Amino acid sequence: MKMSSNEYDAVIIGAGIGGLVCGCYLAKAGMKVLIAEQHNKPGGYCTSFKRGNFTFDAAPHCFGSYREGGMLRKIFSDIGIDKKLNVIRANPSDIIITPNYKINIWNNMEETIEDFSQHFPDYRDKIKQLFYLLVDTNPSSFSNFRNITFRDLLNYYLKNEILKEIIALPLLAIIGLPSSKISAFVGAKLYSEFLFDGGYYPAGGMQVLPDTLAMTFIKFGGELRLSCLVNKIIVKDNKVKGIILEKNEIIQSKYVISNCDARQTFLKLLGRKLITDDFYNKLISMIPSMSNFILYLGLDKNFQTSLKTGSAHYFFNHYSSEFAYKFVKKGDFKKYGGFAFRVSHDKSSIYAGMPAPFKNKIFWGNNKYHVMNAFIDRIEKYIMPDLSKHIIYKDAATPYTMYRYTLNYRGAAYGWLSVPSQLIIPEFKKPPFIKNLYMVGHWTTYGIGISGAAYVGYDTAKLISKNNDRQNNKNLII
Ligand SMILES: Cc1cc2nc3c(=O)[nH]c(=O)nc-3n(C[C@H](O)[C@H](O)[C@H](O)COP(=O)(O)OP(=O)(O)OC[C@H]3O[C@@H](n4cnc5c(N)ncnc54)[C@H](O)[C@@H]3O)c2cc1C
Repeated sequence: MKMSSNEYDAVIIGAGIGGLVCGCYLAKAGMKVLIAEQHNKPGGYCTSFKRGNFTFDAAPHCFGSYREGGMLRKIFSDIGIDKKLNVIRANPSDIIITPNYKINIWNNMEETIEDFSQHFPDYRDKIKQLFYLLVDTNPSSFSNFRNITFRDLLNYYLKNEILKEIIALPLLAIIGLPSSKISAFVGAKLYSEFLFDGGYYPAGGMQVLPDTLAMTFIKFGGELRLSCLVNKIIVKDNKVKGIILEKNEIIQSKYVISNCDARQTFLKLLGRKLITDDFYNKLISMIPSMSNFILYLGLDKNFQTSLKTGSAHYFFNHYSSEFAYKFVKKGDFKKYGGFAFRVSHDKSSIYAGMPAPFKNKIFWGNNKYHVMNAFIDRIEKYIMPDLSKHIIYKDAATPYTMYRYTLNYRGAAYGWLSVPSQLIIPEFKKPPFIKNLYMVGHWTTYGIGISGAAYVGYDTAKLISKNNDRQNNKNLII
């Protein structure tokens, strides 16, 4: 073992959005903070990569909650990156395409209500009531939604099955659950913070976001170590003391904050012996969210499309999220009958994806190219007839790729599965049995992507800061 001469106030394991945001707040408040990231770039899932002249977003392709007064806007303005980022917004942000309907989600709620109502005029008032309820930030809406599914909510307002399915399909495409399974709270949050207030994109690609956060963290005095895998969290007398890196380097720290997945944090980095039986049983009974199969296509200069560039499209050739869920869980993408895609703002590339079950490296090694080519065929058949003539680069990421780059358990895209029974488990954010250990990111509660991970980063930094104040009688104000 090699003891580092540096001792930190806080060490963060992982430079995902949650870890970076938490690091920025703590470093800004004057703490000595280290972020240790196993990958060679910051961002976790939120990264981009280059192939030739193309830049592809690896996983997230936009973010939400960035309206004036929105949660992410507040966080970015607190740490001063709102002025550094050039955030563009697609309008419509999202487009739902089914056999008989094409419905836009506009930047303006009234326009969205109008779009839905033109197709379903008998439901105009109900659509309006439902959509305004989804964006209601009153805490009572949380208690009302806590134990019910999104389907229960839709049933309460609407009778038309097709309309209910059209509202549910984007959620299926995003987190891989039908309305009968997804928590009403998460469904409402996805609508309010990702669809009705979505489509935001940092000019230059998604990597610009974590890069800007990382630079800001360093400017606040933080230290970021890339290609730096953490192997162990050191605990003495039920209190964290630091971490052990690859090559047995010991880093001492008062607080340890894990941005990596909960199973890795508690079972590998901490170890079973240090976890209470109740917590262990809870942890192993929890179900992760679905992973994704993502297609990256680089296109030639002659590619033309009437589709709106920059907007997320959700295509389905049917109206049954239940049916689709049954098949996509098994990896039967043809019967799933849908996919999400986005033509880049400059029309040079296409990002397309589907929820996908986790399978091992061998399975995907044997099946990746077959699934990728069948996926291209379906896009060509339903949406872009000449697509393959314009493809000059193609590749895909499987659920195994998602796992490999971020070490997220089973390549889960949004942390835990967003069902009512897994909604809020406070112990994941602050495990009560180990002092000064915290978690940030999408494994702490429910997953609503980048804005959710950023919020937990902010909230955890606030908790640590308060705790530190109490212990030091010092004023670290966040
Ligand atoms: C295909 C796909 C598409 C998505 N699309 C969107 C979208 O459009 N918009 C949106 O808002 N959200 C989207 N999401 C969800 C969103 O990307 C995530 O919820 C969010 O980025 C999670 O951030 P996080 O901070 O929790 O951590 P993660 O991104 O999971 O990062 C964790 C970090 O910890 C590091 N790490 C893990 N173990 C260790 C270790 N032992 N030592 C050191 N480092 C370690 C990892 O390398 C990683 O960098 C998508 C996700 C996927 C997979």
